[in-house]
Amino acid sequence: MKKTLQFATFDALLNTDICDARTNADLTLTLRLGFRQINPEKGAAKGTYNDYGKPSGKPRKIIRWTPEEWASWKANFISSAQTFWNGKFWLSNTHGYFGYIANKSIYLPNIWCRLNLIGGEASAGIHHYLIDVVRLDPSESLFKSHWKLFDNLDINSVQKGKDSKGKAIMQRAHVHEIGHLLGLGHVDIGKPHCPATGDTNAKACYGITDVDMYSVMGRGMQLRPEHAAPWISAMKTFVEQEPPSTVYKLPQSVDPFLQFLQPSTLVVIPLAPKKLNLPLPLDHFIPKLTRHYPRTPAELESGLMITSR
Ligand SMILES: [Zn+2]
Repeated sequence: MKKTLQFATFDALLNTDICDARTNADLTLTLRLGFRQINPEKGAAKGTYNDYGKPSGKPRKIIRWTPEEWASWKANFISSAQTFWNGKFWLSNTHGYFGYIANKSIYLPNIWCRLNLIGGEASAGIHHYLIDVVRLDPSESLFKSHWKLFDNLDINSVQKGKDSKGKAIMQRAHVHEIGHLLGLGHVDIGKPHCPATGDTNAKACYGITDVDMYSVMGRGMQLRPEHAAPWISAMKTFVEQEPPSTVYKLPQSVDPFLQFLQPSTLVVIPLAPKKLNLPLPLDHFIPKLTRHYPRTPAELESGLMITSR
């Protein structure tokens, strides 16, 4: 199958047509960004723009974008952010969804998490998010940006904090902001020092321990399995939307766990509709940062991870 679902914040394409004994299913999230220049007023070459775009923000010197700078900034943003997030997670398919036959055996794919980042002009009108961008005067080194307002320096690696040994923690802000656009929050949200009901942009929410501060959703550049949450959430919807007629049960399965098999000679077990309405527990797709290959039902049931085939 090749099926696209449109969510509010991205499109998701699940492709199982490519599956074989060594190839997992692909889940590609497409995020379309519409970029818009912020230029000095009245066609001037120079001007000011306030931090966060707020009247209360500190004014910073800005200069007019040139077509060349604008094109190269957008291209750099898209290619570096896509490289950072694309193809980094594999979801371990612990319940055997979307099984298929290859080499006369049943295989159950894992899900490779891809990101397709598209950057265009905001005026084209086809985007999930509108991103405003200021171009700072070379004499300015700082502008306070947020997830929908960037400055041209946000694609550079800058120091965002220090670890417990005094070592600089570096981050390219735009990869952190892409995490937000995909729906991820700051690393320590939900911990006692950063309650989800409070100000989740408070300093403590970016992490207190070194390991948390180094997270891309803290002050650093490290990916963690939990950052696969947007892909897991899309998979939940794909599974919930499968028609009951495509649900199969493996004969050798002891447990009454349900399988979604495609070409198959197995017996169809009709699934009670109420079961489809149950929210899918998160443990149906376990995020991993290393590639592991499709599994046979026996391998899945033994809990084995196949890292080479
Ligand atoms: Zn943030």
